[in-house]
Order: sequence, then structure tokens, then C-alpha cells
Amino acid sequence: WSSVNFPWTKKLEANNKKVFGNHSFRPNQREVINATMSGYDVFVLMPTGGGKSLTYQLPALICPGITLVISPLVSLIQDQIMHLLQANIPAAYLSANMEWTEQQEILRELSSDHFKYRLLYVTPEKIAKSDVLLRHLESLHARELLARIVIDEAHCVSQWGHDFRPDYQGLGILKQKFQNTPVLALTATATASVKEDVVQALGLVNCIVFRQSFNRPNLLYSVIPKTKKCIDDIDKFIKDNHFDECGIIYCLSRMDCEKVAEKLQECGHKAAFYHGSMDPTQRAFVQKQWSKDEINIICATVAFGMGINKPDVRFVIHHSLPKSIEGYHQECGRAGRDGQRSSCVLYYSYSDYIRVKHMISQGGIEQSPFPSGSNRVNIANSGRILETNTENLLRMVSYCENDVDCRRLLQLIHFGEKFDSANCKKTCDNCLKIKSFIEKDVTDVTKQLVELVKSTRQQFSSSHILEVYRGSLSQFVKKHRHETLSLHGAGKHLAKGEASRILRHLVTEDFLVEDVKKSDIYGSVSSVLKVNEYKAKNLFLGGKTIILRFPSPV
Ligand code: ADP
Ligand code: ZN
Repeated sequence: WSSVNFPWTKKLEANNKKVFGNHSFRPNQREVINATMSGYDVFVLMPTGGGKSLTYQLPALICPGITLVISPLVSLIQDQIMHLLQANIPAAYLSANMEWTEQQEILRELSSDHFKYRLLYVTPEKIAKSDVLLRHLESLHARELLARIVIDEAHCVSQWGHDFRPDYQGLGILKQKFQNTPVLALTATATASVKEDVVQALGLVNCIVFRQSFNRPNLLYSVIPKTKKCIDDIDKFIKDNHFDECGIIYCLSRMDCEKVAEKLQECGHKAAFYHGSMDPTQRAFVQKQWSKDEINIICATVAFGMGINKPDVRFVIHHSLPKSIEGYHQECGRAGRDGQRSSCVLYYSYSDYIRVKHMISQGGIEQSPFPSGSNRVNIANSGRILETNTENLLRMVSYCENDVDCRRLLQLIHFGEKFDSANCKKTCDNCLKIKSFIEKDVTDVTKQLVELVKSTRQQFSSSHILEVYRGSLSQFVKKHRHETLSLHGAGKHLAKGEASRILRHLVTEDFLVEDVKKSDIYGSVSSVLKVNEYKAKNLFLGGKTIILRFPSPV
């Protein structure tokens, strides 16, 4: 697909220079364009900042007819249209919160044979809910003026993904109605199973897949234990490493955003907060100040970021646990788009896991803003999606708990990529500190821990289980007479970190299940460990060994 001998090659290169001002193509851009212009359905996995827009905007310019682009966010669409109009490419969009007369005008223009638009952007709910739009698309198609259908942020189709949006599921109708119109699906985040799901749901046929490495060599990754003085740590980190540079701090709740921003202001940083309950003008104002460098640091929920194009973001800090590795990778991806070294620091505490898990089960996690108001509450609560979300979160926990393996490797494995950690060149905390490691068979310890959870009748937290296992004689232990259990102190010989890592492993591998318990009095959340009998059975039937890596003493 990299050939320069397609009939459109000359036009392509000329327009890339003249209209978009690019001197060359980035990796896979030419290939994607050649494939989609040859009429194939194409699936593109390209990291954020890789240049996905060009792969449909350039064809839109030189193919007859209109390119339909489905994109999840009105703000993102507006941003794109602004850029297109600046380059003198006529484009329009339709969304539910537009005046009806305005929408009518655009549709009327499309019924003429000589309409001016090269691209039409719509939000997915328009396809799901607007028969008028579908009729216009049918008419365009019948007149052979529907050049191509582009699905941006295509991972939103999949329930296995980290950002499922129900309206995306209705997009399968497009391929049913317009069989011979090529579809171009674009995403920056997709594992193999998400990709399969998307291809299925959209009904893509003989689809050509372009995938690019998700490795971002210029990003430095680390995970740091989160303490009570986390904000002081953040302040110090920024002053030591990135003073007066630009960064994003991702926080879990709206209140956290405001609290962190305020503290950092007190410490002398130009910080502001950004989250979903601010009104749109406030949000736009903050975003503008940030792009003009009047503010250095934005403390934000994940609502901030989609469509942010600032090239010189020098750090992305996670003040709390991200919901999934995909989400984490994408959020980190907003740093260092100019290719310069940038830091990604995650402050991790196990108690945040309990908090995030609880919020997920309540549907209380802020998603990237959803254009047609929020359906996230009922999405998050429903069975299979809740399960997927919890699984994604557990993977994130095990990423944080892992203090041995290369962070890059751990992320890339998740995207189905092979990576030799020798190529990390000490750009992650684990590679930096570990000189060597040893592998230990911990099967016996895991059995004991499962037994212990059973013998305490599955009513206690992981930290209590660890205390008992390591032989604590605290008041709480005595109150429940757990010093009399036969496994009390059985793990004395283990270092605290070791025992805890093994226990976490049991949770992430689903032998033990973390159950969230809400206290009636204060509404606070605590968790108890339960045994997953079905999985745990395998552990005791024999044959199953569990081996973990530990840093070897230096
Ligand atoms: P993505 O959608 O993959 O995150 P964009 O399409 O927004 O990425 O492109 C990111 C940036 O890269 C934009 O500023 C765009 O103008 C620029 N860009 C894209 N393609 C090229 C190219 N071939 N040469 C130079 N710059 C490019
Ligand atoms: Zn590494």
C-alpha cells in the first residue's frame, strides 16, 4: 500500500503540501489513504497525535462526493471544522443541540447536485435517531455522491473497550444500507478483542488493518506510592523537573480537581481545574488560557483531553488510579506530542482502587463528555459492562502493583504488541531500579492465603488478611480471635511487600474477589475479600503453579 504509483498519487502529494502544508507523510498515512481510496474498508490503529485526520481529509478533498464523518464530541467536531475552514475546505456538521433551521439548511444544500461541502460531520446519535439524515444519506448514495464513511474514535463501538457509547452500536446500519461505500474506522486505543468487536459491529468486510506501535519512546513512566501528602509530592516533582512547564493532572472526582488546583496555586503554580460540571463557557475559557500558556497546569477529570492538540505538554500526572490501561495510555499520550522527553507519573494507592471500583459500580465516574447528555449511569450499572469495567480496572491495579517488569512492556502487551524491554533503555521506573530479579514459586503461599480468607468467613479486608498472615497481634486481630487460626503467622518469613503482592496477584487473577461494602453510618466504603470458588478449585487440584518475579536483593 505504500506505492506511489496510484492514479491519485500526484494529486495527493500536491494537496498535502499546498492545502495542509505538510512536507511529507507520517507513518501509515499514505498506506491508509491508498487503501481507502482503492475502495476497501480500512481499520486504523494509530496513536494519538499520529495524524489520523489527514487520512480522510485528504481523500475527501480529491474524491467526488461527500465524506461522512462520525465523531463523538461536538467540541472535537467544531475544532476540526475550524481547521478545515481555515484551509479553505468547506465542511459542515449536524448535532442534536443545533437549531433545526440551521440543520435544515445544511441538508437542503446536500440535496442539490452541486453542494459545496467536502465533509459532513455528525455525532453518532444523529445516525441512530435521525431518519431525516438517513434519507438524505440514501439520496446522496443513490446519486453516487457518498464518497466515504469515517468512524472516528471507533473503539467507542465496543463494550470491551474503555469508552463504550451506546449510540455507536447503531452504526452497523451504515454498512447495511451503503454496502459499496468504503468505511474508514479510526482509533488510538484498541486491543485485539476490541478491534474484532468493532469490525463485527460495524459489519466491515475484508477489512484492511493498519496498526502502528503504541510505544512512545519519549515518554518516561513511573508509578509512585500515594501518601497523604500526595499534593506536596506533586508540587515538589513539578518544581524539581518541570517548573513553569505545561502539564495535566488527572483527578478522579470534580472535587479532587478543585482541591488539587487550589493547593498548587498556593504553592505558586499557574494551575486551574477543568471538569464536567463547569458550564461550557467556563470550560472553553480555561482551555483557551491553557493553549495560550496563561495557565501551566490543568487539574482535570478525563473529560479534558479528547481533541487537545497542545504539542508541548511536558508531564501528565495521575493523582489517582486510571480506569483502564487503554485509558491510561491515551491520557499519557497527551504528553510529548512534539517528540520531546516528557514525564508520566502515576500516584497509586490500593485504597484508590476501592474508591474507583465503588464509583464504577455507581456509574459515578466522569467519562469524556457525551454530546447528547449523559447516559453513563445506566451504562455503568448494567451487568456485562460493569464486569468489563471492573476487569479493566484490575488490570490497571496489577500494572501499578508490578514493581519488576518494564512499564512499556506491560502496556504494549496489553495492545497485543511484542516489546523487548532492553529497548526501554531505563526510561521507566522499573527498568531504572531493577538490576536483576528472581522468580519464585509462590503456589503454597497462594493456597494458604485462599484458606485464610475462607477461615475468616470472607468478611475481612485484604490488609487484615495480610496482618493475620504475617502474625500480627493487634487489638483488631485479637477482637476477632484471629490469632487462634492455624494460619496465623504462617507468612512470617515473607517481606511485607512480597505477601501483599502475592495477595494482589490472587485478586487480579480472579482467585479472590474484592467485594465492596458500604457502611450504613458514614456512607464510607470498605472492601472484603471473598473466594472465587470456581477458580480457586484449580489451585488446589494440583498441577497449577504460580510463579512471580521479585527484585533480587542488591
Ligand atoms: P490524531 O487524530 O491521530 O490524534 P491529528 O490528525 O490531530 O492526530 O494530527 C496531529 C497533528 O499532526 C496535527 O497538528 C496535524 O496537523 C499534524 N500532522 C498530521 N499529519 C502530518 C504530516 N504528514 N506532516 C506534518 N504534520 C502532520
Ligand atoms: Zn522499562
